[in-house]
Formats: sequence, C-alpha cells, structure tokens
Amino acid sequence: ALHAEIRSWSGPAATSDGTVVQLLANVQDGAAARKASGGSAEGVGLFRTELCFLTAKTEPSIDEQARIYGEVFAAFPDKKVVVRTLDAGSDKPVPFANHEHEENPALGVRGIRLGWTNEGIIDRQLDAIAQAAEDNGVTDPWVMAPMIATVDEAFEFAGKCRERDLKPGIMVEVPSAALLADQFLAEVDFFSIGTNDLTQYTMAADRMSSHLATLTDPWQPAVLRLIQMAADAGKRAGKPVGVCGEAAADPLLACVLIGLGISSLSMATNAIPAVGVQLGKVTMDQCREVAARVVEARNSRDAKELARTALM
Ligand code: PEP
Ligand code: MG
Repeated sequence: ALHAEIRSWSGPAATSDGTVVQLLANVQDGAAARKASGGSAEGVGLFRTELCFLTAKTEPSIDEQARIYGEVFAAFPDKKVVVRTLDAGSDKPVPFANHEHEENPALGVRGIRLGWTNEGIIDRQLDAIAQAAEDNGVTDPWVMAPMIATVDEAFEFAGKCRERDLKPGIMVEVPSAALLADQFLAEVDFFSIGTNDLTQYTMAADRMSSHLATLTDPWQPAVLRLIQMAADAGKRAGKPVGVCGEAAADPLLACVLIGLGISSLSMATNAIPAVGVQLGKVTMDQCREVAARVVEARNSRDAKELARTALM
C-alpha cells in the first residue's frame, strides 16, 4: 500500500496540517536536472559542479562552463536552483584542480580551500555561473561554497558573489560553521547543511569507511544538535536553512529536520516521493515535539526509535 502511495505521489509536499516543505533535487548535470524537473522536484537544492569535471585534465573555458551550468538553469525556469562551487578534492578529485598528494585529503585542500590556493579557478567559475544565469534569464541565482570553516572565508566568498549579482550562501558541513552560525549568517543569505560531511567531521569518522556505520549516521544526537543550532540561527536572522545531505532522503529524519526548523530538503530525485508521503502523514507540532526529544537522546539508535514510535 505504501509503495502504491509513493508511486502515485506528486508534490508539492506539505505536512498533514498544511505546512509547505520545499523538496528539491541533488543533480550533477543537465540530464539529471531534466529528469528531476520531469519528476516531482520543485527545483535544485544542490548542483554538484565538480561532478561535471571528474575527468577534465584542463579547466573548461568560462563559455564552456556557462553552457554546462546553463543546462541546469534551463531545466528549471523560474525555479530555485542552488549551484555549488567546485567541491574538488578528497573523494572527488578534479584533475585540473587537484595535483598534490595529500596524506589526509578529507582534511586537506578541498572545496573552497582550493579557491584560496588557486583563486583564478573560483573567480572564473563564478563568472561562468553569472553568465549562465544571465543567458537563461535567472534573476536570483543562488550560489554556495562547500567546506567553509571560518567567518572570514564566508565574507570573502560572499563578496565575490555579490560583485557578480549572485546570491551567496554556504554549506554547513564543518562543525565550526554550525557553532558560529549567527556570525556566518551575518555574511551570507542562506545555509545548506551537508549532513554527509557534517557527520564525518563531527564524529571523526570517514564517510567512505564501511566499518563505521554507527558513527557516520546523521541520527547521531551530536549532529542533530549542530543542525538545530544552524536552524535556530536561521530563524533569528530570517534566512533560509536547508539540508542537502543524505539525511534529507530518510523520510523519518526528514520529519525531524522540519521539526528543527529546516525549510527545504534536497535529495536524489527518486527519493523525493517517499519523503513527500511521510511528511503528509504528520503534523508540524508532532515534528517539533519529536525534534525537541531526539536532540536529547543518548545515541543514534534511541533517537531513531523515539522518532519511529512517535511518527509512524
Ligand atoms: C554533504 O557533505 O552532505 C554534501 C551534500 O556534499 P557532498 O556529499 O557532495 O560532499
Ligand atoms: Mg560535502
């Protein structure tokens, strides 16, 4: 019965008492964006641009990059599309960007850090995104940087975006960004929480390891607390805070995230209907109550069990 419900579901998503929740797609190119817009995604919450260039030995020109990014804008005319600047390095090395061998690449020059060691790459990418936005009539292009760890980095990145009329945001995936959320939000217009890396860096557990499943679980109460801190700061600042990590695709955890004050969830396109169905079965008050309790849980198992009992 649930399968049939999921198959026939179409958005927009809302809780049973009518609170609208924006469900967005994670995409890596134009083809994925077109598939997402043919499904029930309301936009793109995470365009992983580095995945366009995993085999690129030389940096594509600004025009070529603009053409690639433009395909994603074109798939969602007048809808929210959040472009993430290159998250090159660690598990996603990009040949033209990452050269040096690193002992601990997850803690090395990845994401925005590459932009500081080779500023031309980030400047040209932002030029290309601005050009793609203009070519496609996008008036409000959301752009975010991965792996932001300091307020100064957020300030620098936001300045570059505003020079080009791009709306700046950051990913919250290093715990420092959640801990100082108010200060980061003074610099940028939105947050998107990357729970995959936020969990990895909070629990000191490699997200690629097959031996650490309990530690790399976003239900870890310490991770949920950091999400709560980011969401609370968003409410104080009146700025949107979304989630774009795997956690958003877990229907039960999606309810908890909404209860914590998250306003949009971005996930693999085919995960959207199951999340939409689950959100439709709960009230906003239920989500808030459960959220308040899971952040007090002793461990991830208790947190999950508590949510399951209250919401399913
Ligand atoms: C994340 O870290 O949760 C995230 C969405 O980014 P990526 O998985 O691309 O590192
Ligand atoms: Mg990440």
